Amino acid sequence: MGGPSAPITVKSLLDLDFINRFTRDLPADPETTTRPREVTGALYSRVSPTAVAAPGLVAGSPECAALIGLDPAELGSEEFARVFGGNALVPGMDPFAMAYGGHQFGHWAGQLGDGRAINLGEVRGPEGEGWTLQLKGAGMTPYSRRADGLAVLRSSVREFLCSEAMHHLGVPTTRALSLVTTGDQVMRDMFYDGNAKLEPGAIVCRVSRSFVRFGSFELPASRGDEALLRDLADHVIRTSFPELGAPPSGAPIPAEIYVAWVREVVRRTAVMVAHWMRVGFVHGVMNTDNMSILGETIDYGPYGWLEGYDPGWTPNTTDAQGKRYRFGHQHQIAHWNLTRFASAVVPLAGDVEALQDAVDSFQSVYTEAWTGMLAAKLGLPEFEEERDGPLAVELFRILELQETDMTIFFRELARPLTGDPVGALAAAAYGDGFEPETRAALEAWITSYRDRMAALGVEDGPRRAHMDGANPRYVLRNYLAQLAIDRAAKGDPEGVAELLEVLRRPYEDQPGRDEYAARRPEWARHRAGCSMLSCSS
Ligand code: AMP
Ligand code: MG
Repeated sequence: MGGPSAPITVKSLLDLDFINRFTRDLPADPETTTRPREVTGALYSRVSPTAVAAPGLVAGSPECAALIGLDPAELGSEEFARVFGGNALVPGMDPFAMAYGGHQFGHWAGQLGDGRAINLGEVRGPEGEGWTLQLKGAGMTPYSRRADGLAVLRSSVREFLCSEAMHHLGVPTTRALSLVTTGDQVMRDMFYDGNAKLEPGAIVCRVSRSFVRFGSFELPASRGDEALLRDLADHVIRTSFPELGAPPSGAPIPAEIYVAWVREVVRRTAVMVAHWMRVGFVHGVMNTDNMSILGETIDYGPYGWLEGYDPGWTPNTTDAQGKRYRFGHQHQIAHWNLTRFASAVVPLAGDVEALQDAVDSFQSVYTEAWTGMLAAKLGLPEFEEERDGPLAVELFRILELQETDMTIFFRELARPLTGDPVGALAAAAYGDGFEPETRAALEAWITSYRDRMAALGVEDGPRRAHMDGANPRYVLRNYLAQLAIDRAAKGDPEGVAELLEVLRRPYEDQPGRDEYAARRPEWARHRAGCSMLSCSS
């Protein structure tokens, strides 16, 4: 095992070292067919990807390859497309689909599971750590229920780009190694209006240290299978949370460690959501089966990026009525989901009060994470509630007065406060600049803000450097993703590559790339894929 300073050697695909601890250590479903079924007494089913007609690489992430110790030059090989299109396995892979359940839109949904995700295996990374490789859209599994196990190009481009964009923004997330088209056609009813049509199929290879979800614990707990619940929890604690100091397998894990684990999951989840609020990301489907036990953003479906700042916005057409998963509600949903997770592990931790206390730490951890990020967004050395609270509340009130682009606004706010700062901020306004009411409110706000900075002795230069590290210039605007999808659907992968290139350095001003940082054009306001999205993917 090399330490951080040891030279990192990259390997070819065939030389990857598979350790497969999940399938090595945990109980498997004895049946290996894809017949849809309830799987009890087991945490996963062995299943192979379905072969596709003509696998072809659309895009790869060299950084993600390096992360798992794979030579980035391998991304372009024919063998790579075969393996990551589901047509071949590398020796050492042990493919499987995981069983999990979940609360969907607030209701217990029973067994769900990897209906179209197939884990290929766990690779030993350059520093000895394990990375699970998972194909999304690689065909039927026992958990596919009545669906086809496939994914289409548009949703796969969106998942590939957003995973990597989030990583470069510093938001905890699963990663994406590759995007491969299958050469097969997939039938989808994009608007759920009875007009199904054929679309190109695609497969993303996702990478994470673990794909275990809150719902992975809820399923055995719902069936009263405490032994299976314990098997899974102990495996996750030992492999993914070594800092908790659990004894090695063979010795029982004491109840306090389960409580400490829940507390750590609460902390990570709170920090993740604070990051979403910082960058204007709306997950769109925060069901408990879409919540990673590692506190990573997972399952990029009908997600979206705020353009006009609006806490009530959701990109998900399926959620347009109740707006359960709207931007401004995400922290409350995370807290609710954590309560579901903690309830599932009550049989292990025993002490309900201690678990409740761990879950209730969400509020303070979230507030601390969010105010810390807000301080950076505003260029404040730290967030002093008494002074800065009212300043922030007033700013967010103003941002809602008229449609104002969140990303552009905060980026422009970092400019010098001399001259006409409100005039410069008007670049963020949709329509014809600021209306008189907004302008007046902003003029007053800028005066308070300038006074606050003067009182703190913060000068424009350092303030800008601080803010530019927290306020991205480039995010994956919904319409930019759609333009890349349109090109990919015509057989031109360059749109995806160009966008990925921009999103690799989201906090740097990139000369010649102003159009990627501009307001959403009017034509995109109501175009499908550019504003609202359905779950059809
Ligand atoms: P999602 O809301 O996309 O996270 O999916 C919820 C559940 O539906 C998960 O168990 C997925 O595996 C399953 N699912 C979604 N789409 C498909 C599909 N095309 N084929 C099989 N299962 C699917
Ligand atoms: Mg899901």
